Parts: sequence; structure tokens; C-alpha cells
Amino acid sequence: MPLIVILDDRATNRKIFSKLAASIESGVTVRCFGDPQELLVWLEHNTPDLIITDFKMPTMDGAKFIRRFRAQPNSGEIPVIVITIYEEREFRLRALEAGATDFLNSPVDHQEFTTRARNLLKLRKQQIQLASRADSLERELKDSERSREEALRDSSERLAQVIDTVPAIIRATDREGRILFTNAYQAALFGIDLNEAIGLGLPPVLGEDHVRRDKAFDRKVIDTQAALPSFEEEIVDASGTKRVFLTTKTPLRDCSNAVVGVLTSSLEITDRKRAEDHLFYMAHHDTLTALPNRALLTDRLRREIARTRRGDRPFALHLVDLDGFKDINDGLGHQVGDQFLIEIAGRLRSLLRETDTIARLGGDEFAILQTHVTHNEDAADMASRIIEAISAPWLHAGERVTSNASIGIAIHPNDGANSEELLRNSDLAMYRAKHDGGNVFRFYASDMNRRARASLVLDSDLREAIAKEQFVLHYQPQITLKTGQVIGAEALLRWQRPGYGLIGPSDFLARAEENGLIVPINEWVLREACRQAKSWRWCGQPPIRVGVNLSSIQFFKQNVPLMVTKVLADTGLDPWLLDLELTESIVMHDAEAVAKDLQQLRELGVGISIDDFGTRYSTLTYVKHFPVDRLKIDQCFVRDITTNPSDAAIVRAIVSLGHSLDLEIVAEGVETIEQTALLRIEGCDEAQGFYFAKPMRPEELIAFVSENRIQARTA
Ligand code: C2E
Ligand code: MG
Ligand code: MG
Repeated sequence: MPLIVILDDRATNRKIFSKLAASIESGVTVRCFGDPQELLVWLEHNTPDLIITDFKMPTMDGAKFIRRFRAQPNSGEIPVIVITIYEEREFRLRALEAGATDFLNSPVDHQEFTTRARNLLKLRKQQIQLASRADSLERELKDSERSREEALRDSSERLAQVIDTVPAIIRATDREGRILFTNAYQAALFGIDLNEAIGLGLPPVLGEDHVRRDKAFDRKVIDTQAALPSFEEEIVDASGTKRVFLTTKTPLRDCSNAVVGVLTSSLEITDRKRAEDHLFYMAHHDTLTALPNRALLTDRLRREIARTRRGDRPFALHLVDLDGFKDINDGLGHQVGDQFLIEIAGRLRSLLRETDTIARLGGDEFAILQTHVTHNEDAADMASRIIEAISAPWLHAGERVTSNASIGIAIHPNDGANSEELLRNSDLAMYRAKHDGGNVFRFYASDMNRRARASLVLDSDLREAIAKEQFVLHYQPQITLKTGQVIGAEALLRWQRPGYGLIGPSDFLARAEENGLIVPINEWVLREACRQAKSWRWCGQPPIRVGVNLSSIQFFKQNVPLMVTKVLADTGLDPWLLDLELTESIVMHDAEAVAKDLQQLRELGVGISIDDFGTRYSTLTYVKHFPVDRLKIDQCFVRDITTNPSDAAIVRAIVSLGHSLDLEIVAEGVETIEQTALLRIEGCDEAQGFYFAKPMRPEELIAFVSENRIQARTA
């Protein structure tokens, strides 16, 4: 209902105007005031829809009244009509300035009064409606915003709950490794307070090594701005329990896409690993005796063969077959037969040293891999003890059960180059032992005298070889897997032995290490390799580094850093173009002295690689303590990498651990495109093998490298 207010000091006017106002439309309420002051007070608490005021009033003129009215809050939208008898512009201007909406001349024309008033009321009504529409719209908007916010808060709370409860470590760290966020699972696992962890590094509970490795991985993510492939890691939790996790690291970006840290998530896979380990165990052990089976023995043989290639002592393979086991089985029953085999397994196991391996090959056949066999007598001694252990009587149900053993022995490298040959030859020797009546051992080759004579000839031939310049070096290219470019070449020794043709290191190196000739021979190798590398011209292309194999004997018999310094000075080769390949056995002997030598070599600027990596049992622990640049994964892990998951896992572990120590990883003996592809996926940096190139003469190498560069340029 519209409310109209009339202000006039004269009662007649008030009467006329209120009558007119009431006639505008039905339901109009009119209030009349004679005193502007009184009206102003009233207006503080009331809101009319229209004010009609006289201009000329004794206490306050219309302009002043309007100004004071407009000064009140919320008065701006209420229309005010001023009635004036003066036609002068000046009054109207004053009224307008004060905030009047319209004018009427006095005496008032009735028609005009009602029309103007009606129009202004209509306007006012529309304004009110608009305002209330806007109001409700605003309210609706606010309501919907609130509900969106609530929904968002709800879902992020739910998300946080999920993040907190999933059985996975989730954390975000900044570029300096400080924790920005961590979930409750991680906090509980590490025994830390969720809130106190923020802003700190990883908790010391994890161990120094773990923390350092984690930092190195984070650095890699930040540097490359890319996620790392998932990797497995072991974590000992606050309660001391070992758990296995599959960890993924991805860059953490801000809204402008800049990398501000690392997001780490680790899924616990302890159970899966346990199942895998169990399967692995089952696949590699004999269920009856719990001894390793043929598969595991073959694997150990493979490693042992790789180890003896350089420096390490030969090993013996004893093939043990029980004499008369069939009688026990047939006479006393299978169950007793089984128990007897378990008894024998236990006795044989007690004869072994830690590095030896015993396996049950099937039935009553066992094999023992005996390491560190310096002389044949070592193997003979072991065989005698085996015979003695087996022939001791076994008491079963008050009865003495006895059996004997026939043993065939093959010694690597002389009696076989690979596991099949060694197994075959020890088997042949075992049959000879059986043929000779059993309860004895036989060596594969009985003509040991001939062998001893051959060694003597080899000794004198080797001595001559240096003087007569019969040694040559072949070079095998090393390829960067990322680009396919040749980055280095390994010098491999060959001997042009009169009457034998060109022979490889496996035919003479072991002997040279035994008789000490390896020292002058290898010194020649180093000098020759440096001399040739210095002479290579790469026509403005970057030079390639040369790899030289060193023998552990050298470290015991000569001052290697001094020798290397002299050779570098004499040949003028840049030290950083020389890469020395050492085996793990070198660093294992006298760790402190070797560490000092390696440190000196490193200070010269030469590179240091660990060759045949993975074939020793020492794992990575020592690598941390030596200045090493590169790990060369031995061929025995590369050979079956595409078919044998445990080999692939070993390679993956070497790559990830190596990279965390900032080492380059080189794969050796790469023979196929499939191996190459997999190695690339596993993150190997470099590769070497017949797939890329066989070892070649120096002039062939130069042609090969130029060809490779042309291909790379035109590819
Ligand atoms: P290494 O240092 O591991 O060298 C790699 C060996 O693997 C070389 O055998 C090479 O010819 C062979 N090879 C490379 N790619 C493949 C492949 O794809 N498939 C297969 N089946 N074999 C591959 P090599 O030349 O007979 O040398 C044997 C070992 O003799 C070397 O193993 C190294 O330990 C030692 N050796 C070689 N030259 C020297 C030397 O100058 N000094 C010393 N101390 N040892 C040396
Ligand atoms: Mg090598
Ligand atoms: Mg090697």
C-alpha cells in the first residue's frame, strides 16, 4: 500500500493536497505534517513512497528540508515533489541540488498533481520490486555459493581422509626436501607426529642411507622435471619391521606449472614380495631336502664363471652320486629312502664354506660347487671329505644303513667354459669313478702332467710375447643408449701366439695372473691404449674415452696411481679420456689401501668403472665408499634379461641404486635388439656388446665411429 506524506505549513493546502493524493489510487495512505522538523523525526522510523513538500515554509525552506532528509540513510530512492509559487530558476536549482525529484507550480493544477504523483509512485513501486528481485537473486547466489563451498569442503575432507587411510605413503616435499604434506599412514609408519613433521626433512628413523638416496631421487625429479619410473625399496618402520614399497616420484607443480617440489607415493607390496620370494624359493629349491636345485646351481655357476674371468681363483664342480641307494629305497621303502637323502643333504651341507653351493640335481645325485680352488689338491681334499661323510653309517630303527659315493670333479676354467660343459664333464668323471668300483673320486682330465707341462710352456711363451710385441689391442665400442652415439671403447687384450693364431684373454690371463706376468703385460696394455687413444683424430667431433681393464694383482704388486700418472704424462692423453675398469674383487681385498689408490686416481681425473658388476656377493655397500663413476652390469644378467624376471629385477635394482649414487650404468654383452630395448626401459645409460659391435682393430674402430657419427647426423 503506497504511503504519501504531505508537508505544508498551511492547513488548507494540507487538506487540498491530501485529498488529491488520496484520489491517486485506491488504498493510498496519506500523512500530513506542518512542521518540517517533526516530519524529519518521523522519517527516521518510517519509509513513505512519496513526499510532497511546500518550498516556502517559516522554519525551514523546502530545499533545506530535502537536504536534511536525503542525509538520512536509505532516503535516496524516495521521490520528493516540491511545490513552489516561485518560477525563478534559482529556487528550483536549489531544490534540485538538495535532491528534489520533481516540481509542481502553485497554485497546483489538480490534474498535473495526480499525474505526476502517480508516475512517481509507479516508478517507486518498480524500484522496490527491482530491489527486492536483486535482493533475492543475491540471496540465491549466496546460498548456492555457500553450498558449493560446503560441497568442496566436504569432498576435500573426504579426500584427505582417503589420503590418510590408504595403506600408502603419500608426501609432498619442497625443493629443499622439507615436508609440505604427509599423510597419517606415513606418520604412523615412521612414528612421527603428523603436524610436527611439516617443514622438516625425512625422519632419521629411515636411516642415513635411505634419506640420502631419497634426496638424490628427488633431485633427479626436480632437475628433469619428469616422473621417475616406479622402483622398489625396503623401509624399516618405527617398530623395526622391514617392509617393501613400490615408490613413484612425480614433480609437484604450482598453478603456473613451475616445479616446486616432489610428490612421493609408496604403495606397500610386502605381501606380494613375500609371495614372489616364496615362488622364487620354490622354483630354486628341492622340496625334499630344501637344498638348491639344478636351476639355482646353474645360476651360481654362471656367476662363478664370470668371477673367474679375471683375478679370482678357479672353482671345482663335484658331481656326487650315491652308490647303492637303489637298494635302500627298494629294501626299506621310499619313506626311509627319503629320510636317508635328507640325512645325506645335512652331512654334505656341513662340509661347505659360505661361498660354496650344494644342490640336489635329482634322485640320489648331488652337486657341490667349491670356490677358491688354488690347486687340484684342494678339490681332492674336499672330495675325500665328501666320501667320508657319506660312508658314515646311518642308524634307522636300530639298523645300520650305509651307502658310498662316486664323485666326478671338473675344474673351471680348464674343464669347461660354461655350466653345461662343466656339468657334462663332471658327469663323465663321475661315471669313471663308478666304473672304477665306486667310493672314489675322479678328475675330469687325468692327464694333469700334460697340463703342468703346458703351463710351463705358456709361462715362457708369455715372457717372450712382450719382448716380441705379440700382443695387440682390440677395441669394443660403448654406445650411449639415449642417442646411439659411440661414447667410448674398451681395450681388450689379444695375443698373436705363434702356432695358435690370435687368442683371447681367457686362454692366458689366468696363468699370467698366477705367475705375475700380468703386471708388465697390463702396463703395456695401459700404455698402448693411451698412446692409440691420443693418436685418434675425430675431426672436430668430441673424442671418445678409452677403457682399460686392470687386474687386482697389479694393486698388490705395484703402485698403480704412480704407473697411471707416468703413462698419462708420457702419452699426453687427457686423463678424463681414460676409464679404468676394476672388478669388485680389487676393492674387497684391502679396502683401505685400495680406497687410497682409487682416490689418487680420481684426483688425476681418470674415470673408474666397476667391471662385471653383480657377480660378487658384496652388493653395493662398498661402492659408496670408493670414488666410482660407472658400474658395468655383467653379461650374465643381460643374457636372459628378456626371459628371466629375476635377471631383469637385478638389472633394475642396479640401475636404480646406481643412479641414486650418481653412477652411470653400462650393460655388457648386449647381443639383441630386445635386450637393448629392455635395458633402455630400465634406464641403463650405456651398452656394449655384439649387437652394436664386436671388439675390432684400432683402424676399424675409427671407421666405425665415423660411420656412427654420420648416421647420427643424418638420422
Ligand atoms: P670384460 O672386461 O668383461 O670384457 C668384456 C668381454 O666380453 C670381452 O671378452 C668381450 O669380447 C666380450 N663381449 C663383449 N660383447 C659381448 C657380447 O655381446 N657377447 C659375448 N658373448 N661376449 C661379449 P674378452 O675380450 O674375451 O675379454 C675377457 C675378459 O678378459 C674381459 O672381460 C676382461 O676381464 C679381461 N681382459 C681383457 N683385456 C684385459 C686386459 O688388458 N687386462 C686385464 N687385466 N684383463 C683383461
Ligand atoms: Mg672390462
Ligand atoms: Mg665385464
